[in-house]
Amino acid sequence: MRAMPRQAPARCLQLRSHDDLKADSSKFSTIELQRRIPMSLLNQLATALSTGSVKIIDLTHTLEERTPIIPLPAPNAQQLPFRLEEISRFDERGPDWYWNNIHCGEHTGTHFDAPAHWISGRHYEDGSTDKIPVKRFIAPACVIDVSDRVHEDYLTTVEDIERWEAEHGRIPAGSWALIRTGWSSRNYSDQFLNVREDGGHWPGNHPDVAKFLARERDVIGVGTEPVGTDSGQASTFAEPLPCHYYMHGSNKFGLSSLANLHLLPPTGALLITPPLKIKNGSGSPCRVLALVEC
Ligand SMILES: [Zn+2]
Repeated sequence: MRAMPRQAPARCLQLRSHDDLKADSSKFSTIELQRRIPMSLLNQLATALSTGSVKIIDLTHTLEERTPIIPLPAPNAQQLPFRLEEISRFDERGPDWYWNNIHCGEHTGTHFDAPAHWISGRHYEDGSTDKIPVKRFIAPACVIDVSDRVHEDYLTTVEDIERWEAEHGRIPAGSWALIRTGWSSRNYSDQFLNVREDGGHWPGNHPDVAKFLARERDVIGVGTEPVGTDSGQASTFAEPLPCHYYMHGSNKFGLSSLANLHLLPPTGALLITPPLKIKNGSGSPCRVLALVEC
């Protein structure tokens, strides 16, 4: 039978590595060890969350009818904007309950892009939202801040990534590369999509960055603050929509319309990003959370 977890101490706990715990264990008897190391890793995490030494940052914008959706030029089909349709609200349609139907596309608001979203990723057997191994929905994040140089057509460059790595170290394989542009402060305004006659104008990633992050750094995906992971003008590039093409072509993911990236450290955050388990889904709105040590 498992011992019940002890009550959390008042002080903030430091999360300790498995090696640290093992090193300690060689010094003490089993009983002494249970006294000194009473909690499993998950109990330590639960305690750290309750004491606030690990915080949860919500990287998600609220879904509502004014949520911007990506505008595609004709003759491409459009997805539905988000809409709530009330079924009942404590009335003759349902006296004791409130509930809604929701209408939206998979790629609405803060959302997850699966490899199956793109022609380059359609051959992956585990590339749709229902088939991606769930362990891939929890991964560390690197936050690359380009907000001091961004403009409406800015493309993050490989030099930006290398400059960040010179300060913070090489992006570990399996990490999210989150590009902080500050663009989320425009959400729900016309300046978010920033559409003119020639289409949308929002920042994105240079084609070389998509290749570099997918192939040289083996990231798990790229996350951005604008409406998509590619820039507003990326459909006009010689290699159109390169972030989608190269990331999904390498069985990597995308996150778009992220909020609150300014609350994350450059390294050390752990992202939780499960999309809805839609059969053969290409993505879904996603409540993106980040665990951060304080
Ligand atoms: Zn998308």
